[in-house]
Amino acid sequence: MDFITIPFLSVFVLPTLSSYSTRINLIFFYMTWTTLVLAHTALRVELFGTLAARLVFYLVPSLLFFLFDIAAPSTAVVFKGQGEAGLPTGNKRGKPTSKEVKVAGWALINFALGIAAQTATETFLIKIPMLKPAVHVTMSVPMPWDITKHLLWGFFVREHTPSTATSCTLECPIFALISTAHRAWHHSLRAPFPLTAHYDHPLAYLIGVFIPMYIPVMFLRFHMITFLVYTVLVSIEETSVFSGYYVIPSFLLRGIARRMEHHLSFGGKTYFGRWGFLDLITGTGGYADDDERGARSAGDGWDGRGSPKGRKK
Ligand SMILES: [Zn+2]
Repeated sequence: MDFITIPFLSVFVLPTLSSYSTRINLIFFYMTWTTLVLAHTALRVELFGTLAARLVFYLVPSLLFFLFDIAAPSTAVVFKGQGEAGLPTGNKRGKPTSKEVKVAGWALINFALGIAAQTATETFLIKIPMLKPAVHVTMSVPMPWDITKHLLWGFFVREHTPSTATSCTLECPIFALISTAHRAWHHSLRAPFPLTAHYDHPLAYLIGVFIPMYIPVMFLRFHMITFLVYTVLVSIEETSVFSGYYVIPSFLLRGIARRMEHHLSFGGKTYFGRWGFLDLITGTGGYADDDERGARSAGDGWDGRGSPKGRKK
């Protein structure tokens, strides 16, 4: 059985937990969860949960970082992995122009588009009797290993879907328009800066960002709690990786940040995936390695470990 209910939890799991406060917290969490599920429709629980996770872990921090970069570029540049190129204006003395406003505006529009696409997909799946909703909202809660299993599959599928989609958009003439739009929009950026995780042509955004994120949820039918954890992790990744700051609290995220920087600096010819698995197999990470070796030998500011030379890690 994939999921457990509270009697199972109270009989088999809680007695094994040594801390009394942990048991109380778990019971309190389960009661809150049950009340939430009984009081609202599944669609409402999914959408409000998604919005809350996205706002707290992506939108609000990314907006604050973006405003900080604009308001105090001289201070922000100290923390930028790519120096002044990592600022929205590209220069610590530059004033924000309509281009930066356009980037931020479209990033916000795409963010809303992703939520709208999720709502439309889930409404369609709920309305058609033969189909099942993408997200499983029930009173039962998943076991930790079910959450872990789905998260691993989720990130694996998300990693490889954009790679396939990108290869296809580059190879198939039918997708030439999308490929051109992606290059004209996303690749107009010098380097990642806050909010740019969601900056692209809307169609390219849906194919390259939204679909890879939601496809594993649909096919594996994530439990709502798993989906929340997944959304929080994806939001943290997008916020930190695209902030452009070298102070990122994980070596995994620092690696993704460098791959995204290279994807932009090499005009989209390298690092189609974030975690680098498929690029390792297909050899599409070579440009970055060459660059790193060159940078290390030339001493142009990168120490080859994901941090600019001379800066604290
Ligand atoms: Zn690209």
